[in-house]
Amino acid sequence: MTNGPADMILSAPRIFTAGDAGLIEDGAVAVSDGVIAAVGRRSDVTAGFAGEEIRLPDATLLPGLVDSHEHLMGTGRFAEGTGTLHEPESMYALVFADAGVRMLRRGVTTVRVPGSYAAIDLVVRRAIAEGLTRGPRLVCAGQPVTMTGGHGHGIGIEADGAAACAGAARSQLALGVDFVKLMASGGVGVVRPGEDPTHPELTVEEMRAVVEVATAAGRPVAAHADGVQGITNSLEAGISCIEHGIYLTPDHARYMAANGVVLVPTLSTMTAIAHKTEQLGLPPVWKPIAEAILPVHRASFQAALDAGVTFAAGTDSYGDIVDEIIEFTTYGISSADAITAATAGGAAIARSDRFGTLEVGKDADVIAVPGDPLADLEALRDVRLVVARGAVEHLADGVRT
Ligand SMILES: [Zn+2]
Repeated sequence: MTNGPADMILSAPRIFTAGDAGLIEDGAVAVSDGVIAAVGRRSDVTAGFAGEEIRLPDATLLPGLVDSHEHLMGTGRFAEGTGTLHEPESMYALVFADAGVRMLRRGVTTVRVPGSYAAIDLVVRRAIAEGLTRGPRLVCAGQPVTMTGGHGHGIGIEADGAAACAGAARSQLALGVDFVKLMASGGVGVVRPGEDPTHPELTVEEMRAVVEVATAAGRPVAAHADGVQGITNSLEAGISCIEHGIYLTPDHARYMAANGVVLVPTLSTMTAIAHKTEQLGLPPVWKPIAEAILPVHRASFQAALDAGVTFAAGTDSYGDIVDEIIEFTTYGISSADAITAATAGGAAIARSDRFGTLEVGKDADVIAVPGDPLADLEALRDVRLVVARGAVEHLADGVRT
């Protein structure tokens, strides 16, 4: 008996659902109208649904990857966000759209963008929705709110005082952002002389004003927060997500776990800034700062894990999603849990029930990699098939049988 036609059936020897079903052997996913209509044993799925089947021998199907912190401005001159570039905004839109397509081909079907020059993320999100360009699902913050001369001021709205900060947040809420991003401390990628990741930037009062207007609009607030005081201030202001959390203490971690505040540590970008400074053409001044914080960041992420803080994978321009997943495993996190941080964990942080797992009713974001990524995470670097919201976006040669 058939339940009906499927637009497509994907089958493989292994399916990692990142959901309750875990690992399914000899499995299949039926896709209908861009949504997962069935997932289970291949024999059951093909008995229930008729449709064109893409068989992937010796592959594993898994949910599309979610990058929870990526600005989609590449790694070159556009990525530095120093505010020294004078290109037309339209140029940034093209750079952004191109970066999105590249991410999609690598299996990243959702990108959370925590701050974007000229709120270009919102324009590209609309262009993707209208079919003008391809790209991952975007979870957008528009322009970040930062103090005058603050971290990321090249792409952000500079605001001083609670009223100005609330106004800046409202301007982005009016444009339709999914969350608001603010800068609670200096960063590792310093943008002015004297900037330091341990320096607090927006005050508790300023951030509280942003949280108040965002909460009223039903949107969470994420804080770039590196130093101890910046993290403390962010938590006191009531933000929902800490980005980086380099100097996060066990006390912060316990508070976050108890209050549902989540973390995107962006480990691989800090490693890349420290170890690949020249290769990536980054400002030399970033290198000693990144080198100094690596052991601190390691201890703080361990504290977050010990406390049970929810976390997700984010690459922040210079990191890499597979490097991030693999770095998670150096903390004793299992391969399955590390992949889950880059799938279901990303959906949790984006507060969405549309993606992140292979479950009936979710958008059909499905990727295939050779072999078994749970046994060898390097397999995630060789994405053979990408289906995003039911559309085949990438199919490597020789995959279809
Ligand atoms: Zn960032």
